[in-house]
Amino acid sequence: MSINIDQIRSLFPVLHQEVHGKPLIYFDNAATTQKPTSVIEALAKYYEHDNSNIHRGAHTLADRATRYFEKSREAVKDFIRAKEEAEIIFTKGTTDGINLVAATFGRKFINKGDEILISTMEHHSNIVPWQMLCEEKEAVLKVIPITDEGEIIWEAFLNLLSEKTKLVSIVHASNALGTINPVKDIIAKAHEVGAKVLVDAAQSTSHLEIDVQDLDCDFLVFSAHKLYGPTGLGVLYGKREILEAMPPYQGGGEMIKEVSFAKTTFNEIPFKFEAGTPNIGDVIAFKKSLDFINELGKKRIKAHEDELLAYATSGLNEIKGFVPVGTAKEKVSVISFNINGMHPFDVGMMLDAKGIAVRTGHHCTQPLMQRFGIEGTVRASFAVYNNKSEIDQLVESVARIAKIKN
Ligand code: PLP
Repeated sequence: MSINIDQIRSLFPVLHQEVHGKPLIYFDNAATTQKPTSVIEALAKYYEHDNSNIHRGAHTLADRATRYFEKSREAVKDFIRAKEEAEIIFTKGTTDGINLVAATFGRKFINKGDEILISTMEHHSNIVPWQMLCEEKEAVLKVIPITDEGEIIWEAFLNLLSEKTKLVSIVHASNALGTINPVKDIIAKAHEVGAKVLVDAAQSTSHLEIDVQDLDCDFLVFSAHKLYGPTGLGVLYGKREILEAMPPYQGGGEMIKEVSFAKTTFNEIPFKFEAGTPNIGDVIAFKKSLDFINELGKKRIKAHEDELLAYATSGLNEIKGFVPVGTAKEKVSVISFNINGMHPFDVGMMLDAKGIAVRTGHHCTQPLMQRFGIEGTVRASFAVYNNKSEIDQLVESVARIAKIKN
């Protein structure tokens, strides 16, 4: 069954507005997705009816809030097919999840001379925490090169892997290029040398089926706001035995079992990693985002977005002066490009004047931009609520803009 776009669009109030006198066309979904009414209402309902601190209260509201909060954890567990809720840690987002792993797993298990492997197409949040850790531990950060199409060079990856590799931290789908990396194969190869693998799933969870047990990843991180959910919230999945072996991240309430001035014992996972009052309302509302995705089904979402991607790619490729950046065979619905003779920012401003929201710049992937010898790109990224008529307008507008210099 195909997707009823009009019905889906009616669930997203933000889409129904004008920008510069033109109907908004929102193509900045890789930066953040819009939120359906169900998520917005769940947030309001929490503050109107259920607001209370969780896990500690003996009263009805605290009990209710705790149950809803833990139901969201269960929904996340099912969403990524983890074995148990204890493996789901709520964080502030992808960045926070990676920093947590670097600060705890990294500090305990990465030693002098050990190697951490990332790829050229990583987001800064999957580069900088490892650089900081490597500096502290005198470990070595190695980078898997990519082809001109924006795909990992498999032979180079295999050559970089060795007994020294303790961690491979890799993006599932590139935010700047759209490339889908063969993470399952990467994980299998990394495990052969005894390395653990972290998957940055910030850009993949909204498009691709995720099964952490099938992937066999050791960690997986993502952000709720790229999944039609609230900002400032994310998830770190980790295998139980690894999470248990890791020291806590932050100290404080919730993460302890017993505190005395002589000695503190820590709580069980996941609470050991959730110090302080969490983002309760957003966690509760996040379940509605997952319900929204589950009701549509990832297969249907992906099929629709693939159709948009193919349609936009063929339309844009016709334009004189259009230069795509990242032409991998397997992509999520992201198109990065430049227009000959024009700065990406100027293209973005001209599209905004037409009501079309795209992102311009380095997309927090400066080393990737350096690899392509460019300063940045214009990026259009599609979500389930986008349609072909919006893409027609993008293609028409880009064609007009490109004509200025081509
Ligand atoms: N990794 C990738 C691939 C991303 O696209 C992003 C956000 O754009 C991040 C990490 C960081 O996510 P957040 O800013 O939600 O922590």
